[in-house]
Amino acid sequence: MSQRQTPSRPLEVPCPRCQTPVAWVEENLFRPFCSERCKLIDLGAWADGSHRIAGEPAMDETEIDEMIMRAERGDTGRED
Ligand SMILES: [Zn+2]
Repeated sequence: MSQRQTPSRPLEVPCPRCQTPVAWVEENLFRPFCSERCKLIDLGAWADGSHRIAGEPAMDETEIDEMIMRAERGDTGRED
């Protein structure tokens, strides 16, 4: 007789960046983060610390948001 123990639900951990509950499952490639974005931002923040790469300043969350906004608007910074 086999008694398989199936967990009622996967373990959930809060995303270190935005505190969104993240299911700790194989399918979640970005765990413990909720998304690739949060993972990249956190890695960037980490890189900004003692492990900073010389000449390669890490972007913070604001800069990434600004970059995305500009790309969406097609804003090149010129004022015509
Ligand atoms: Zn997140």
